[in-house]
Amino acid sequence: MTNSEPVYTQPITVGDEDPIIVNDLHKSFGSNEVLKGIDLKVKNGEVIAIIGPSGSGKSTLLRCLNRLEDVTSGEVIILGENIATAKGKELDQVRQRVGMVFQHFNLFPHMTALENVALAPVETGKLGKADARKRAAELLDRVGLGDKKEQRPAQLSGGQKQRVAIARALAMSPEIMLFDEATSALDPEMVGEVLQVIRDLAASGMTMALVTHEMGFAREVADRVVFMDGGKVVESSAPADLFDHPKESRTQDFLSKVL
Ligand code: ADP
Ligand code: MG
Repeated sequence: MTNSEPVYTQPITVGDEDPIIVNDLHKSFGSNEVLKGIDLKVKNGEVIAIIGPSGSGKSTLLRCLNRLEDVTSGEVIILGENIATAKGKELDQVRQRVGMVFQHFNLFPHMTALENVALAPVETGKLGKADARKRAAELLDRVGLGDKKEQRPAQLSGGQKQRVAIARALAMSPEIMLFDEATSALDPEMVGEVLQVIRDLAASGMTMALVTHEMGFAREVADRVVFMDGGKVVESSAPADLFDHPKESRTQDFLSKVL
């Protein structure tokens, strides 16, 4: 994964506006307010790591960034479009420019790795079948699975399945990638191979938001670390500042338990 062929999409700047801008985002499930006024900006090519205790709203925030969750109030401006209120075709178009990778890979079990990766570009009309397969093959090579193209998910390890899932997200040429605990379901010996793919993607200039429990990785790969607790961003700063000199007592408490 050290070659520099332009398989990954280069980031596209939308005017001077940051690709992710969240203003006073609130999200409730029934009477349970899970996000209590989130403000967040991510610059073009920036990598942020979102950390915090279980239940603090990290996944919900990430899901709001591509409208997997409806927003209760506030703005979520992704690539210039407020997806909190966007509908129909506008919403679909923005969502296609945002890739997401989950803890569980959700690959189609009856399809090969290559077919899984090639599917979305064909279904959305982005690429013809032959081009989609060609791109899928390139992406599988790029994530180190060149020899697994014809395998079905059941024949792959957890780390390999997650790399297929990353290739699948990249097949749509997203300008933003979201990762929600992409390594949490993996056996320890498979974490490294997935982190390497994410690291490579960060180095390619992709704008990314990663929810992670891997503090060492967050420190290494993120330009900025965002600490959430109780549905709020408590503190956000460069990794060395946040990990070595946390300002808020809640951040200090959390770090004392996980580091
Ligand atoms: P984290 O990812 O930081 O662990 P989540 O965003 O998953 O936190 O969850 C934050 C809170 O929102 C939790 O209390 C959780 O129970 C609640 N929650 C998340 N998704 C839903 C849902 N679909 N319906 C109801 N409550 C939810
Ligand atoms: Mg979560």
